[in-house]
Amino acid sequence: MGNFSIAADWIRSAQGVMVLAGAGMGVDSGLPDFRGDKGFWQSYPPYQALGLNFAQVADPLHFDRDPAFGWGFYGHRLELYRKTEPHRGYKILLDWGKRLGIEVFVVTSNVDGHFFQAGFEPSQVYEVHGSIHHLQCCEPCSEEIWENQEQVRLDLEQMRAVVVPKCPKCNRVSRPNILMFNDFHWNNKRSSRQEERFKEFLFRHQEHSLVALEIGAGLAVPTIRLMTETLARRGAKTIRINPVEPAITPPNLSLRKSGLEALTLIDQVL
Ligand SMILES: [Zn+2]
Repeated sequence: MGNFSIAADWIRSAQGVMVLAGAGMGVDSGLPDFRGDKGFWQSYPPYQALGLNFAQVADPLHFDRDPAFGWGFYGHRLELYRKTEPHRGYKILLDWGKRLGIEVFVVTSNVDGHFFQAGFEPSQVYEVHGSIHHLQCCEPCSEEIWENQEQVRLDLEQMRAVVVPKCPKCNRVSRPNILMFNDFHWNNKRSSRQEERFKEFLFRHQEHSLVALEIGAGLAVPTIRLMTETLARRGAKTIRINPVEPAITPPNLSLRKSGLEALTLIDQVL
């Protein structure tokens, strides 16, 4: 039996599927995954000229020192994520839930909100690093998190926001409700509520009746991989989909494919 048939078999006989998605999940939709400095600078040449890598650009310090610069990067990503359509792989996962009567839950480090855009329910997704579609105060003056309805106009040559979004309560600068690098002010309230649902999902399903399906999770920021490996150790049948770094210890399954390719191939067998 080929690996895709084994994967299909596992999924068919599971009670629940825990999808663990990293940046690679968005690549098939046309989103950049910031793989290494080179990959990052290919997507954002102005930062190469400034000699700033991803971690240095995604530092909350900018929102204090130079908010127009901080919002340049996040304003650009906000627009990109809004106008990009999630690929068909998201629908395939949703469809498994409905068609096979299994519970699908998603843990993702992606802040693009694409699982929601594709039709997942709030009860089904845990965004471990937050979401660009929600905002918080930079101070913060309160615990509040609100929906991001800003239209951030940008000077693309300088990667600067023309107008900086403000906190409606104190009128100081607002920022995306995303866990950045060296971030001490991220408000994790929304993410923690999602984490509760993640724990409830695990509580409802014993690990041995679960399939852990990791998609496009890199080694650079290994948050998602560590969660996958914990589930695997606890007995979840584990599948790693990754076109570049697919290695995993047997009997877990390694599929050297992009997210969309692998999901399409598994779906064909199902
Ligand atoms: Zn405020």
